[in-house]
Amino acid sequence: MMNSFREYFTYRNGKLYCEDVSLEEIAEEYGTPVYVYSSKCFIDKFTQQDKALSNHPHLICYSVKSNSNINILRMMQEAGCGMDVVSGGEIYRAIAAGVKPEKIVYAGVGKTTSEIELALTTGIRMFNCESLPEIERINMVAQSMNKTARIAIRVNPDVTANTHHYITTGRKENKFGISMQLLPHIVSAIKNMPYIKLIGIHVHIGSQITEVEPFEEACNKALDVMVKLKAMGMDECTTLNLGGGFGIQYNDGNSFDVARWATIIDNVIKDKNIFLIIEPGRYISGSSGALLTRVQYKKKTDTKTFIIVDSGMHQLIRPTLYQAYQHVANVTLREGKEIVDVVGPICESGDFFAKDREISYTMQDDCLAVLSAGAYGMAMASRYNSHPLPAEVLIEGNTHKLIRSRETYEDLITRERV
Ligand code: PLP
Repeated sequence: MMNSFREYFTYRNGKLYCEDVSLEEIAEEYGTPVYVYSSKCFIDKFTQQDKALSNHPHLICYSVKSNSNINILRMMQEAGCGMDVVSGGEIYRAIAAGVKPEKIVYAGVGKTTSEIELALTTGIRMFNCESLPEIERINMVAQSMNKTARIAIRVNPDVTANTHHYITTGRKENKFGISMQLLPHIVSAIKNMPYIKLIGIHVHIGSQITEVEPFEEACNKALDVMVKLKAMGMDECTTLNLGGGFGIQYNDGNSFDVARWATIIDNVIKDKNIFLIIEPGRYISGSSGALLTRVQYKKKTDTKTFIIVDSGMHQLIRPTLYQAYQHVANVTLREGKEIVDVVGPICESGDFFAKDREISYTMQDDCLAVLSAGAYGMAMASRYNSHPLPAEVLIEGNTHKLIRSRETYEDLITRERV
């Protein structure tokens, strides 16, 4: 069976393609570094989860933070997707992409007054609230605007997910969510907030989780909370938002078993009057993207061979930030293999895509593809060392279009005031 992380990026006669487009041609036409995305992969992954939840009324809210290009958002909303946002900027993007406000859910521990105002003016579906002071602020802002704010309480279920510690979010020591013990206190406070309507419970336990069990545990705990809230008179609390975090296959490990997960969810919530929301980001965008980068130099030292490329940690930070594996493939396959470090031009030793990795033989000027780079790639890119941000190209079948042009040197200084 083909590795799912390579499904949409395949070799034909020794050349790497995304869908039906040769990536060497993309690199030549648009230059490097460039992010390329398979629209089919985006839609397939969404459809997979959408079908899996078809036994329940539900809404899939694509997590904008994972890849926020407006063209991607537009494509996803046209497919029927809602959006999970975490800032005023993401609300702005979602609306600009044509997403209906009632399909937008808004999480994040640090919502500012102006962001709350924007959310209420926009008329989003609900806020996922992370603390009592936040709920109090939303109540105050809603009062000043004479609106009612629909909220879910994000509970911290204290579930351990087997993933990198920077991206676990459902443990007691994490800053996210409200502990179960505090709930009675929060509920009695909400009862005195006339501009707040509690309609749901939210959990999000972390990212890149490939096992199903932590989701089952979180779902069970969230459901217990909903039962308790009902007993406290919160009759309208019927939305269960299970968050995102569904893992993808970066290497040869397991990928997330959607069918098994769906069966478990079915068992846990069957016959209950629940509207289900999930917030997948990486699951939809991760395998959909690759970063194309050109080899500048091949540098041999006493102990290593460095492949120095024109992209790096500033444009894909996952390897250095999370010690994450990103598969590196030569766009034109060559005979033989060698063990190399694939590194960027940034003045940091943490600037690498792969270390001591066996890859296909590589020469100066070859184009390499860093696969599974569609999530938290461009979205986390910076201009560090004054490298302009890369271009982005969306592929559909045998067609391709530029969805973000490459930044220029002028762009780098345009907001600086002399
Ligand atoms: N929902 C919330 C509240 C999140 O914090 C995140 C990621 O940080 C996501 C959804 C998306 O996570 P993933 O891309 O792992 O699905």
